[in-house]
Amino acid sequence: MVSRVIPVDTFDLVIFGGTGDLARRKILPGLYRRFTGGQMPPDSRIIAAARSEMDDAAYRAQVRAALEEFVPAGKRDEGGISAFLERIHYVAIDATGTSGWADLKKMMRPDVVRAFYFSVAPSLFGALAERLHENGIAGPQSRIVVEKPFGRDLESARALNRVLALHFAEEQIYRIDHYLGKETVQNLMAVRFANILFEPLWKAQYIDHVQITVAETVGVGGRGAYYDTSGAMRDMVQNHLMQLLCLIAMEPPYHFDPNAVRDEKLKVIRALDPVPPEDIVRGQYLAGGGQESYVDHAGNPRSRTESYIALKVHIANWRWKGTPFYLRTGKRLRARASEIAITFREPPHSIFDDAEDWRENVLVIRLQPDEGINLKVMIKEPGPGGMRLTQVPLDMSFAEALGPDGEDIPDAYERLIMDVIRGNQTLFMRGDEVEAAWAWADPIIAAWERRGDRPKTYEPGTSGPEDALMLMHRDGRRWREIR
Ligand code: NAD
Repeated sequence: MVSRVIPVDTFDLVIFGGTGDLARRKILPGLYRRFTGGQMPPDSRIIAAARSEMDDAAYRAQVRAALEEFVPAGKRDEGGISAFLERIHYVAIDATGTSGWADLKKMMRPDVVRAFYFSVAPSLFGALAERLHENGIAGPQSRIVVEKPFGRDLESARALNRVLALHFAEEQIYRIDHYLGKETVQNLMAVRFANILFEPLWKAQYIDHVQITVAETVGVGGRGAYYDTSGAMRDMVQNHLMQLLCLIAMEPPYHFDPNAVRDEKLKVIRALDPVPPEDIVRGQYLAGGGQESYVDHAGNPRSRTESYIALKVHIANWRWKGTPFYLRTGKRLRARASEIAITFREPPHSIFDDAEDWRENVLVIRLQPDEGINLKVMIKEPGPGGMRLTQVPLDMSFAEALGPDGEDIPDAYERLIMDVIRGNQTLFMRGDEVEAAWAWADPIIAAWERRGDRPKTYEPGTSGPEDALMLMHRDGRRWREIR
């Protein structure tokens, strides 16, 4: 299968925070891949803006080092790197001051797409928006890209939305949730809405429950002090897991169009029931495997922040009444694995004698590793043993199914940046969605803070605290193994 590369218009992309970790690890390598993939028009430019004083040559040397570190050796070559570096410029700028802005203005070209990536701390978003506007650098056609975290509660998210709205219309603001840029996540929409097979069954009547798992093996390490002010609910559930839940639960949008899709996601968030304390398990990893415990990483022996959370969520609408969504995410777990598993109900009546061999149909959407979709179905056990049943997977790994092109599935960041240039907001969060998600999360967090709730501890390399198993067991269900 030959993948189609759709060229985008010529652009000037300014990366504020161009010397930062995210730019080095994700943004620049992603742009390099789009450049060598033939999607970036040759006269497009990337202008990095950050505080340090340096010239283009010094910055290009930094970019080269980042590409050598973060683009696999087989995916880069000297010719590609040299050509890419020629597209890159640098300007020293102070987001909160006056220096550098006139230089940036001079560098911008008329008649090309202008995009500004705010890869800096959210506390600088307001200053950047204001200076772009005041200096006449951003106009009504310009786009801004903002990174997570988008607030730490409803109030701060509202404040951020307000400060951006002073200078940019909602249609110009691209709030990144890189989970939405993953190939499989978009495939979830294709599977649901481009096939007749699943949608008639996509409701509480036929779906017993849904599990969404995002498991990491890494701990919070050097980010411990920052992470301790956040925790798994704020860092993962309110944004990434919530977005996945929305795509599974939403009604069919009338069109694959940014506002149509986001309207449907918003309705799901608004339909979420409050989550009572007994439906939440929070955890903190212990020391092990040569690594310190969560509280040591956090530098706070009395920390009550969770590095793991599991919760049972109900969506109060006609489609989902009676089908719980179990969400869990955590650090220092057994494996790095993200998946959505949709477990269907039993057939209403079994005509087979060996009913005990029956297993539920499960549709598993794997986000990592090895993106793909797997449907577990019952078949007759082969051979002469009579009519015995067995379960087999109908497996579709994208890398295999799509052949050599499958290995070149674009990384989430590269896809999302190209969507910004195209002016397509479908895979970005709208301001009201983010606020609605915080409005749901805030009282849950406030309740455990009020109670002085302490996370349970768990051994690293496991699937989390024991109590999380009980969350499912008491409903007669089991978590899928983290592998
Ligand atoms: P970083 O600390 O590594 O880099 C910050 C950048 O901002 C640097 O280039 C610095 O020069 C620039 N900067 C700081 N103050 C400035 C000022 N006054 N004027 C101009 N430039 C200034 O941060 P990072 O890890 O790259 O993160 C950037 C943003 O992306 C943050 O909002 C972060 O939450 C978000 N984010 C990062 C990651 C990640 O993996 N690093 C992942 C998701 C989201």
